Amino acid sequence: MLSYDEYQSKAAGLSFRNQCWIDGAFVPAVSGETFAAINPATGKKLTDVARGSAADIDRAVASARAAFEDGRWSRKTPGERKEVLLRLAQLIRDNLTELALLDTLDMGKPISETVNVDVPGSAMFFQWHAEAVDKLYDEIAPTGGRDVAMVRRMPLGVVGAVVPWNFPLDMATWKLAPALATGNSVVLKPAEQSPLSALFLAELAKEAGLPDGVLNVVPGFGEDAGQALGRHPDVDCLVFTGSTAVGKLFQRYAGESNMKQVWLETGGKSPNLIFADADLDKAADMAAFGIFFNQGEVCSANSRLLVQKDIAEVFIAKLKTRAEAIKQGDPLDPETTMGAMVDAQHATRVASYLAVGKEDARLVTGGNRITIGSSDAFVQPTIFADVPAHSRIVREEIFGPVLAVQTFDTDEDALALANDTEFGLAASIWTADLSRAMDLSDRLNVGTVSVNTVDALSPMTPFGGVKQSGFGRDLSIHSFDKYTALKTIWVKY
Ligand code: NAP
Ligand code: MG
Repeated sequence: MLSYDEYQSKAAGLSFRNQCWIDGAFVPAVSGETFAAINPATGKKLTDVARGSAADIDRAVASARAAFEDGRWSRKTPGERKEVLLRLAQLIRDNLTELALLDTLDMGKPISETVNVDVPGSAMFFQWHAEAVDKLYDEIAPTGGRDVAMVRRMPLGVVGAVVPWNFPLDMATWKLAPALATGNSVVLKPAEQSPLSALFLAELAKEAGLPDGVLNVVPGFGEDAGQALGRHPDVDCLVFTGSTAVGKLFQRYAGESNMKQVWLETGGKSPNLIFADADLDKAADMAAFGIFFNQGEVCSANSRLLVQKDIAEVFIAKLKTRAEAIKQGDPLDPETTMGAMVDAQHATRVASYLAVGKEDARLVTGGNRITIGSSDAFVQPTIFADVPAHSRIVREEIFGPVLAVQTFDTDEDALALANDTEFGLAASIWTADLSRAMDLSDRLNVGTVSVNTVDALSPMTPFGGVKQSGFGRDLSIHSFDKYTALKTIWVKY
């Protein structure tokens, strides 16, 4: 890590890529319009970004389609695509500080996290998918006789990707790495709050050898650029990470247009179950991380804590100590452990839940929106106990540093509470009893169960949800399923 002074001076010297990236070059929006990229930790403008809309999406899709059809990338061998994406992984590492600064400035998360988690993660995910793609074998069906029936994985064509702002570089990477590795062309629409790292990434991809047109990035607003991509007749597949409400819109866009495939990674309200036989100090460390990491702006945040009654007060006291040790401040300061909410509007939304919590439950710590420096986009790490099952703070995704604590007696009570939600992304269980952990893991309606840890995640394991947390999986070999269609080629001889 560099020092606070060094990050400040590097941030002051940055030049931002702020136009649409189409066909291998930066171009202004057709309309000439722009929108402001704001640093939420200061409230100050970073740059004006091209505001792409339907006309720009049309150009980007045409470029992606042309690239796909002439085979400049789609008909390269997996080994050739691997080489390019491995170079991109290396370029991400070579430009670590700049990429980290872009996400930290654009959405307010601590520099220690973009430097140590987000940017190395992006390089690792590109590397992993690149290395995997030339180890995937096609199949021959067991027809017997004078027949050979091949089952081949084919790229889909043009993939539209619409991603959120909470891990700007990583959420883009989770879609781009498997989509590009398998030979597709992509049009990416980053969140309006965080377009800067994706635009720099596109330039790095060209430097790595990705042919023009294969990756296009159109910054803009969801209602116009995002919707235009979702409704585009020449997009074969739309992959989305974001809120459940917007995910449902993409299903509608597809149904009302060309029935493109839609894969959704959406919201969560993930439970963390703490049993009396757990290592309570370790559990408290990780429960605090599970809700407060990234300002709580994590889809799989452990935002509901379910704790066994006999240890509830002891455990809440441990959590309170940890919440109060969090250092909020300027995200460019390497000592900061919690930054700003992504923007003032989101801070207002999170603060509205603080008011609900104070009405419905017992405030243990935090509970306020605060001003640091020139920005009021900060929210204190907050814990509410005695939260009734009907309260909106335990039912709705807050997407901020707000923990709702409930208690239970038996395993069955814990399971019933845990599954009593419209979401199904992740869950955690803390216990020394392996049979209990396995039994509950089987019965929790979620995509990932972490036992004696939280948010277990790696490029080797699939990530995604059930219920209204979405469907389809990012990461792992299984992520390739979203970006390829099986084709049967049957030969008689
Ligand atoms: P969001 O409002 O749903 O936005 C996500 C993306 O969709 C953005 O690019 C957004 O553009 C676009 N969008 C918004 N309205 C649209 C519309 N009417 N038509 C087409 N596109 C539209 O979500 P967010 O606030 O950025 O991110 C937070 C959400 O993401 C949370 O619910 C969180 O759980 C979820 N998330 C899920 C996962 C997962 O893997 N399951 C991971 C991370 C985050 P604008 O930027 O212009 O709004
Ligand atoms: Mg948004």
